[in-house]
Amino acid sequence: MPSEPHRIAIVGVGKIARDQHRPSIAGNPAFTLAATVSRHGFFDGVPAYTDLDAMLVARPDVTAVALCTPPQVRHALAARAIAAGRHVLLEKPPGATLSEVEDLTHRAATAGVTLFATWHSRFAPAVPRAAAWLAGRTVRRVAVTWKEDVRRWHPGQEWIWQAGGLGVFDPGINALSILTAIAPFPLRLESAVLEVPENRETPIAARLAFASETGADITADFDWRREGTQIWDIRAETDAGVMLLRDGGRRLEVDGAVLLDEPDAEYAGIYARFAALLAGGRSDVDLAPLRLVADAFMIGRRTTVAPFVDTPAP
Ligand code: NAP
Repeated sequence: MPSEPHRIAIVGVGKIARDQHRPSIAGNPAFTLAATVSRHGFFDGVPAYTDLDAMLVARPDVTAVALCTPPQVRHALAARAIAAGRHVLLEKPPGATLSEVEDLTHRAATAGVTLFATWHSRFAPAVPRAAAWLAGRTVRRVAVTWKEDVRRWHPGQEWIWQAGGLGVFDPGINALSILTAIAPFPLRLESAVLEVPENRETPIAARLAFASETGADITADFDWRREGTQIWDIRAETDAGVMLLRDGGRRLEVDGAVLLDEPDAEYAGIYARFAALLAGGRSDVDLAPLRLVADAFMIGRRTTVAPFVDTPAP
């Protein structure tokens, strides 16, 4: 740990900044929350700015920023922070396009700052164990099922329905971030069907099929219209039994026996990793999950489905 904590600013004070970033920064002695940048949001007792450039000029003591805005505006903010010599943590997805994240990677390397593209689901407690269990096994079939109620998790969030907001891939990319971390082989997207509400720009449901060098049958089923029990599961049939990674990566079962079931500590893991990257002067940008989503938008067959009417923001 550095002798002085890193002074970090949260940019975009919305749901994830409040629910996870603020408490995780408070819980990690390597960081101090020194400022926020948000047009409307703020935290009591933390110096608040409404413009990133104004904060960067006024606060040379702030050495890192955590960008918690929607993806559509993330590149412009990250580029400005990097140009000002600040380290940058990107919420997932790291950007709205592959090329803009590659551009940021180049800018960060040139400026000599750390760029960390976070995938919070990879820090779920059972993910490393699932990867270790699958390694060396023959995988015959993988079924990803990610079904949740968009009205419950994203009430009033317009950006998820606008181009670049990813629609159901906003949670679906979490599943893909786990899948690309645990699959013991590279994945290639083979086909996709995207269901887009007639009054929206992004899909409310998607079905994907992947190919791999091993010939395993791999599918993903994402749906935002699920009410009642929510499902965030990855099921793998192998030569040594059936592995079930449940609850977004918190619980691991093999042939029905529970190997691991732990509470969520994803964002504590993210900030521990960010501190380690800063200490080592390194960056961490893995585009694999975003590439699969980009592929789905490239080859996906679009079908138009019933209009989606949101519930008002809380
Ligand atoms: P959110 O509640 O809508 O908050 C985002 C904040 O960004 C807004 O409150 C807004 O604050 C600011 N912002 C700046 N430009 C914006 C724009 N053009 N449109 C809308 N807001 C803008 O979103 P969120 O749920 O926190 O998600 C933010 C990011 O975190 C997304 O990439 C999402 O995938 C990721 N994430 C979310 C969750 C979750 O559970 N919600 C979980 C993991 C990751 P001001 O109006 O004050 O500027």
